[in-house]
Amino acid sequence: MLEQPKQVGKTALEVKNLKLVFRTYAGLVKALDGVDLTVRRGEILGLVGESGSGKSVTALAIAGLLPENAQIIEGEVLLDGDNLLGKEKKALRIARLTDIAFVFQDPMTYLNPVFTIGRQITEIFDGDPKLFQDELIKSRLDEIKALQHKTAETAILAELSREEQRLQEAKRSGKLSRKEGKRLSRSRALQYLSLVKLPDPERVFKMYPFELSGGMRQRAMIAMALARSPRVLLADEITTALDVTVQAQILELLKELRNNIHAAVIIITHDLGIVAQTCDMVAVMYAGNIVETATVEEIFRNPLHPYTKGLLAAVPRIGKTGESLESISGSVPDLIYPPSGCRFHPRCPMAFERCPQVKPPLVEPKTGHKVECLLYGG
Ligand code: SF4
Repeated sequence: MLEQPKQVGKTALEVKNLKLVFRTYAGLVKALDGVDLTVRRGEILGLVGESGSGKSVTALAIAGLLPENAQIIEGEVLLDGDNLLGKEKKALRIARLTDIAFVFQDPMTYLNPVFTIGRQITEIFDGDPKLFQDELIKSRLDEIKALQHKTAETAILAELSREEQRLQEAKRSGKLSRKEGKRLSRSRALQYLSLVKLPDPERVFKMYPFELSGGMRQRAMIAMALARSPRVLLADEITTALDVTVQAQILELLKELRNNIHAAVIIITHDLGIVAQTCDMVAVMYAGNIVETATVEEIFRNPLHPYTKGLLAAVPRIGKTGESLESISGSVPDLIYPPSGCRFHPRCPMAFERCPQVKPPLVEPKTGHKVECLLYGG
């Protein structure tokens, strides 16, 4: 039985009709073709699909980390109802730096190899303007207090917020010495390292990234992401390079954290096993479109879109011996010349006459279960 989120709150992130292209020498790559996504606080959404389906591009667009040749043509990225795409450059940078945290597949490309883990975390506190805003600290304390389930982690978070409040007061009154500021930053960094269950945080604080194992580096990166108190946490294929035991531990940690930090979490993966194990909701992506969205249980029990059905049929099952694995014929299309109408039609076993002519609208044949396929209407 899948574990349900303990407290799912209001919508944290909403992506509406996001269309994005990349300018390349070969031509215009129509990478996102009207992506719609919603994630609520305390919820984990799994964004799944084959390589090249647009999962990572969607995440990068949300986090504002797109390369220079990317151009957003249309759409909105709403963070607590506030459209990030309409903001000025500086405000956008602050919002994205402080409210949206990204954990990457390979922590070594993100962590600075010449600084200790401790220095990299404390730098976040020293340079982050949001951590010194009264309102934010107060609202975070209120959120933690409102959580009915009290754990060791919520106690740590509450203590961290109180510490930030004290730091704020000391800064305002001019009583905070440099030494005291450093001490407070260090103590907060250590608490974040224990929050992600790193053994011996004092030791890890002094270590360089190359001295940590893959799993520890991933935990350190999650600690750095949490230190920003994000409203949205994006995790892109974060367990791909880890062995199965460490992978299970990291996923378990994410599940615990989504309840404790009460953030919206998006896990980007091509692995349906990870989705089944970790997520509450699933969005299936194909060639720049979200083709189906539902709860994890619903997707596994009652998939509607032919692509989702194909993905599920391709998962190896215990007890199914002697049979060859099913696969989806063909490959992800070239998005410089995407197929007309439904982008899945050249590979779809259910395609019919109208499929190459009409882009399927998003319909909701069952409450909470949305699909983009002409078989269900439109
Ligand atoms: Fe297949 Fe047509 Fe549905 Fe597209 S719209 S998934 S081609 S049946």
